[in-house]
Amino acid sequence: MKKLKIDLPEKQYDILIEKGLRRQFGSEIKKLYTNKKIFIITDQNVYNIYGEEFEKDLKSNGFEPYFTVVEPGEKSKSIAVLESVYDSLLDKEITRSDMIVALGGGVVGDLTGFVAATLLRGIRFMQIPTSLLAQIDSSVGGKVAVNLEKGKNLVGNFYHPDAVLIDPEMLLTLEKRYFYDGMAEVIKYGCIKSEELFRMLESYVTEEEFFDNIDDIIYRCCDIKRAVVEEDEKDTGNRMLLNFGHTLGHAVEKCFGYEKYTHGEGVAIGMYNITLRSEAKGETEAGVAESIKSLLVKYKLPYEMPEMDEEEVKKAIGLDKKSSSGSITLILVKRIGESYLKKIAKEEIVDYI
Ligand code: NAD
Ligand code: ZN
Repeated sequence: MKKLKIDLPEKQYDILIEKGLRRQFGSEIKKLYTNKKIFIITDQNVYNIYGEEFEKDLKSNGFEPYFTVVEPGEKSKSIAVLESVYDSLLDKEITRSDMIVALGGGVVGDLTGFVAATLLRGIRFMQIPTSLLAQIDSSVGGKVAVNLEKGKNLVGNFYHPDAVLIDPEMLLTLEKRYFYDGMAEVIKYGCIKSEELFRMLESYVTEEEFFDNIDDIIYRCCDIKRAVVEEDEKDTGNRMLLNFGHTLGHAVEKCFGYEKYTHGEGVAIGMYNITLRSEAKGETEAGVAESIKSLLVKYKLPYEMPEMDEEEVKKAIGLDKKSSSGSITLILVKRIGESYLKKIAKEEIVDYI
């Protein structure tokens, strides 16, 4: 079993990673929580595949589990679904001393975390992330949120779980498109913080070889996020490095109405194109953009900037929540595994798109 300790001033907890861990979820939870009642929030897809097995496992460990199942997809990160989850938990007479478990991808994790942070002024919760994106990114770091009509993640908080339990084997049932979506963020970690991870990803010849090493890959990604979050929990400085490729990526996602490109695809395009520009300006070592491109292609991700109206792109970037008044912070890669923040005036952004 691989184990990481998250050590923040107000909260310490473990991330456990092991193939097949799902067969021990109940006993791992029991080490940290001994009441009978336990409240699981999941989505319909994950429930269909893992619900019954998890319920049995919890019962055999003496728990009395109550499931709340939401529709799969981003639309469940809404105020309406949030309210229905509050109601469902209150109907089952949840109290402040109970435990909530998020079993699912990033949508379930963000929604459940926000429920846990706010219902009855805060209830303990645990993360059992089941998508690649959730296992390497969204379940670590304490950001929880729901969306508004006006935009994504506008209502949220920082609220950490008591544990993160990761079974990489659960990714075997994940649809391919979600798998590749998460791969963009894995590649991102390599670009910004770990040449070793980047080279590992380059070296795998077969899918089998990749999956043999998936627990190590997940461990490395979580460890990078752990270090970044411990240094800058509230995202005012170096945590921004995690947004490499995201400014352009968000613009691509947005300009195509969040339909044509997934988040990961947007990030992939963003990482390559910003690096192409920074390399041309001498701010990145020669050849880095090409290495990123090859790795993106290998993991079936796009790299080419689609045809977009420049005004629309600018608007999308200008309104990006990561930009402060007259300036914008770019995340650039110096060489593979090394990145830095560069603050520029907003009008200079044209040099980078
Ligand atoms: P998701 O939760 O919608 O999951 C993707 C799809 O995979 C869903 O249809 C889900 O039902 C299905 N699924 C999940 N696990 C499965 C499994 N093991 N087998 C079969 N199907 C499975 O999306 P996501 O990509 O996991 O997460 C996206 C969300 O994460 C976005 O809302 C984003 O804002 C958020 N996010 C949050 C953070 C953070 O720090 N909190 C970071 C990055 C992204
Ligand atoms: Zn992202």
